[in-house]
Amino acid sequence: DAVEISLKDIDQLAKSSFPLCMRHMLDKLRENHHLKHGGRMQFGLFLKGAGLKLEDALAFWRAEFSQKVGSERFDKEYAYSIRHNYGKEGKRTDYTPYSCQKIISATPGVGDHHGCPYRHFGEENLRAALNKMGVSGHALEEIMDKVKNRHYQLACTLTFEATHGVSCDSGINHPNQYFSESQKVLR
Ligand code: SF4
Repeated sequence: DAVEISLKDIDQLAKSSFPLCMRHMLDKLRENHHLKHGGRMQFGLFLKGAGLKLEDALAFWRAEFSQKVGSERFDKEYAYSIRHNYGKEGKRTDYTPYSCQKIISATPGVGDHHGCPYRHFGEENLRAALNKMGVSGHALEEIMDKVKNRHYQLACTLTFEATHGVSCDSGINHPNQYFSESQKVLR
């Protein structure tokens, strides 16, 4: 039952099945051809957990970063940490994708794009991002209400329900769970 995602499907899958935190990082990576360390960790481990193989991960990050820093510098400075995330370097730990709790408690600084949008976006940006996902009206107000009460994972669960048209009784507690629940509904 292990899902495998391939390089060519990432943008399509992001639209249909990534939670907002991961959509946002893909958007920023495509826009800036760069993500800072916190983003590379959060997004890279998510992609790994979603089934992106190491070779595809290297090709994915190289295609973007080489537009910014050149492929030589990518190979020298960034490829190592991607292999590292896959347990191929250093202590060979197989790193686990971050849970919502961990992402929500992050403290992204200026120029960082990791974190949880429900927690870390301003209200206007969050509304715009949710609109872009097709969420509006009553559903949107309910989500914003959860955010105001600091129930970020509930806000994410309501977003899942609004965009998939099904209820998610377990609630969202992990971005990779969001992804796999979504794939279950859509496949
Ligand atoms: Fe991502 Fe979890 Fe926040 Fe949803 S609640 S946007 S999955 S960190």
